[in-house]
Amino acid sequence: MKRKDILEKVRRVVLKVGSRVLTAKGRTLSQPVFDRMAREISGAKKRGYEIVLISSGAIAAGMGRLGLLEKPKTMPEKQASAAIGQSALMWSYEKAFSFYGEKVAQILLTRDDLSNRNRYLNARNTLLTLLDFGVIPIINENDTVVVQEIKFGDNDNLSALVTNLVNADLLVILSDIDGLYDKDPRVHRGARLIRFVDRVTEEMEQKATGTLSPFSVGGMVTKLQAARKAAFFGVPTVLANGMVEGLLEKILSGEEVGTLFTSQVNKLTSRKHWIAFTLNAQGRIVVDEGAKRAILQKGKSLLPSGVLFAEGKFGQGDPVALFDGNGREFARGLTNYDSSEINKIKGLKTSEVESRLGYRYSDEIVHRDDLVCFPAGC
Ligand code: GLU
Repeated sequence: MKRKDILEKVRRVVLKVGSRVLTAKGRTLSQPVFDRMAREISGAKKRGYEIVLISSGAIAAGMGRLGLLEKPKTMPEKQASAAIGQSALMWSYEKAFSFYGEKVAQILLTRDDLSNRNRYLNARNTLLTLLDFGVIPIINENDTVVVQEIKFGDNDNLSALVTNLVNADLLVILSDIDGLYDKDPRVHRGARLIRFVDRVTEEMEQKATGTLSPFSVGGMVTKLQAARKAAFFGVPTVLANGMVEGLLEKILSGEEVGTLFTSQVNKLTSRKHWIAFTLNAQGRIVVDEGAKRAILQKGKSLLPSGVLFAEGKFGQGDPVALFDGNGREFARGLTNYDSSEINKIKGLKTSEVESRLGYRYSDEIVHRDDLVCFPAGC
């Protein structure tokens, strides 16, 4: 399918802008960049697009205000910096968008907020209501209150989860690099920009280099992860250089800018996508080859007979990762039994569960409706 045909159907866009873009690679927020973003986004809105913005830049803005030259190292310093910077960030957006008569709204999220299905759906309703009001939601991670366990970690991954949350048609990641290269362009002169990727592979993620600058969090790896997660929801991603004028219009009209990632995997339902990517696995269940094959090739549920053991302490209903005996994760799901129960009934036939535990919640440890397989969905 041609790029133009893919992009023609797009109406709702999640647009992620990185700190390097918003600071114009400097140490403080660059108001001209915000003005340009506002012009381009309001232009797109006038052409009928709905835009949800994911904006980094809080920590960078806080650093600027505090006169820090290096990114803070401790968690409290980072959080203090984000608290100072977040209001500066929103103020820059307010100024920029009000010139075009656009209203914006701030939404600060943690993984915890989205891990509970009711709160997840509630966040969705709020975002959709903002879009109905014609307002531009501006989302960032709530850096000031998150602790490691409930962190999304980087806004690239957060933006992919938001594509599911708002049911977007396209994810755009604007960074300070033109797209994905076959080699690191900072090191190799002849590095070639890849225009089209039909599937993000593990090998690509391994090859991608780490953090590119003291300001950005994820580097290329998290951008690839985001593209892969969006693909699981059937959503294409464009990774492009946000330092270039007029880029958003070019992307939306299907011009060959940046790298387009398309989706070749089975599209997950919104709920399965949430299980696979928004939830944090609380432990792992290691299974034998027969169970793995039945799950991956026949779309079966996980039964006690295929379980080798459970690792970690998790409760009934918690998200868990399924591993094979070689230490490879191949699926995620919601468990019907807690970790100690699983270790009691591992290897048993379904008919033996009740006599071992004295009760039986269900035949399956993880039902296939609550199960997602990697790398291609199931
Ligand atoms: N939430 C961080 C900030 O606003 C940025 C995280 C990221 O860029 O991935 O500074």
